[in-house]
Amino acid sequence: MPELPEVQTVCDVMRPQIVGKRIENIRIEEEKVIAGADVDKFKKCLIGAAFEAVNRRGKYILLLLDKGRRLTIHLRMTGCLLVAPAGYPAEKHTHVTFELEGGQELRFIDQRKFGRMWLTEACGKVPGLDALGPEPFDKALTAEYLKERIGNLHRKIKDCLLDQHLVAGIGNIYSDEILFRAGIHPAREACSLTEAAYERLAAQIPDTMRYYVDKNRIDAQTYLKTGGREYQNTPYLQVYGRAGKACLVCGERLVKARVAGRGSVYCPCCQRLDETT
Ligand SMILES: [Zn+2]
Repeated sequence: MPELPEVQTVCDVMRPQIVGKRIENIRIEEEKVIAGADVDKFKKCLIGAAFEAVNRRGKYILLLLDKGRRLTIHLRMTGCLLVAPAGYPAEKHTHVTFELEGGQELRFIDQRKFGRMWLTEACGKVPGLDALGPEPFDKALTAEYLKERIGNLHRKIKDCLLDQHLVAGIGNIYSDEILFRAGIHPAREACSLTEAAYERLAAQIPDTMRYYVDKNRIDAQTYLKTGGREYQNTPYLQVYGRAGKACLVCGERLVKARVAGRGSVYCPCCQRLDETT
């Protein structure tokens, strides 16, 4: 499932290819992808509009259009956006195709069909968007902020990190990576974390995300060739997907356990449940 680094990659790859381009036609194969609008209205509003900017907020992609409109896209589990020449073979599960001036197409592909797009006014309401917490890179994300929000809760810290109201953009993969780097067991209750642990967490959230955004950089051609499905940063993950393998810090075998309803990988030696630091 794409999290902040992967969504950032989609935006960075797409931006130079679509900004300034006008939508000439739209083909919709799966109507349920278009949330909260009828398909004819959706087409009517968008055909003739031009993309002005590509932004990201949490895991949402914000495509700003002229005429004061915004197309917001959430990729959910398996969604993907590709920009391809009109004649380029379409991926399976291509649900929406925007034909752009100049012969390129912006295609929305989604095997499991949980991804959604919303057409609104530029500042329009989209479910979940306004309730997002600060971005990992936001100066507001400090140890004090985290402590203030969750410091009294008997809620597992992993569960807190997955909460988009607390911090935007973190999912199962990067919550494991952040907690490993901060030396915090995923099942520790938020109220058990010391001041020092909150400091480590507040530092590791932006550092970890920045590192994986950087490692996921890819050129548009390779991105298209791999169908947007191959994440370049996967080989750099230190715990996620490495259960049973040696911890890169201490050599202990990494453990996988269910925490907050999600499979979580951690080092039982570097991330102790009874830690008091
Ligand atoms: Zn370790």
